[in-house]
Amino acid sequence: MDTKAFKRSLQNSENYNRKGFGHQAEVATQLKSEYQSNLIQEIRDRNYVLKRGDVTIRLAQAFGFCWGVERAVAIAYETRKHFPTERIWITNEIIHNPSVNQRMQEMQVGFIPVEAGKKDFSVVGNKDVVILPAFGASVQEMQILNDKGCQIVDTTCPWVSKVWNTVEKHKKREYTSIIHGKYKHEETIATSSFAGKYLIVLNLKEAQYVADYILHGGNREEFLQKFAKACSPGFDPDQDLERVGIANQTTMLKSETEQIGKLFERTMMQKYSPTELNQHFQTFNTICDATQERQDAMLELVEHKLDLMIVIGGFNSSNTTQLQQIAQEKGLPSYHIDCVERIKSIASIQHRQLNGDLVITDNWLPKGEIVIGVTSGASTPDKVVEDIIEKIFALKATVAVS
Ligand code: SF4
Repeated sequence: MDTKAFKRSLQNSENYNRKGFGHQAEVATQLKSEYQSNLIQEIRDRNYVLKRGDVTIRLAQAFGFCWGVERAVAIAYETRKHFPTERIWITNEIIHNPSVNQRMQEMQVGFIPVEAGKKDFSVVGNKDVVILPAFGASVQEMQILNDKGCQIVDTTCPWVSKVWNTVEKHKKREYTSIIHGKYKHEETIATSSFAGKYLIVLNLKEAQYVADYILHGGNREEFLQKFAKACSPGFDPDQDLERVGIANQTTMLKSETEQIGKLFERTMMQKYSPTELNQHFQTFNTICDATQERQDAMLELVEHKLDLMIVIGGFNSSNTTQLQQIAQEKGLPSYHIDCVERIKSIASIQHRQLNGDLVITDNWLPKGEIVIGVTSGASTPDKVVEDIIEKIFALKATVAVS
């Protein structure tokens, strides 16, 4: 399918909007009152450090709502204002944050139901409005909605669209896209729908496996089994790895994407010689600025003397998981939580581990004077961060007076 031509025709359709509806000022006030925080502003103004009682909070210098998320949420709010009575759907969570998604539901924005792992678009009528979230939607979903003739409001972040353009370039030049990402993540599902041939690698280890196969061959059946859910239909590792281009989910660990790019560059150089490299390898930087800034700020934060880290963000938020990984690699006790309710008491916190397990840790908050590093993912409102910091201050204050 010519996805580029489809996108062009969709964007010219009168049923399509990706710029909002002119209610920016009204919506900005509403968003400020719902999601912003005076406490967080105060910490920013104090050079990202605040001490209260025994607790010093050290905030990362870049954290929380990114430009793309703010834009997506604002357009969703504008959509509700512009279509006050129409039925409005969203193809997935607008962003990976439970409080924002709950707000969408309160505003009568429905999620497309999922039956046996498949979205059921039969609920959408031709007079309905459908919002595409910040991390986009697959071309097939866009096609279904376009065929129905409903109003499409596209909040896909331009950084994500940039990756789609990249894989379309690979497709045009007959390169296989090697996508550094999570094959189940909605953004990567969308990206792969715009690609021609593709292979999704989760990390450097998987990339190394593919590079070894390119250089030395290997067990074809094992390869196909390993990437069964992470490659294009009919993918043939013996034919489809002769020309590769690198792309990534925008929220992966930047350093790992770079290492994967370098690995394939070296691999293709070794296999085909440096003079032939351009015929076999292409790379473009598709990590978004916001992800880069948050990861760089986290790397800077963990260099300070910290007793523990709190990493705040949705449990299905990829960029938050990367921040947690940085803390763990530094050997810090670090707790990834999505809301204040995960802090059960001074003695108990429920948090998500990197492997996805939800666990409870006892005695997580040390006695006496402590320094806590705090950061949050790109889809976390400041209000959520404030609630968590206030809870920690309150718990420690109770101990101090008892
Ligand atoms: S994290 Fe980056 S790609 Fe994702 S919405 Fe924010 S700016 Fe866009």
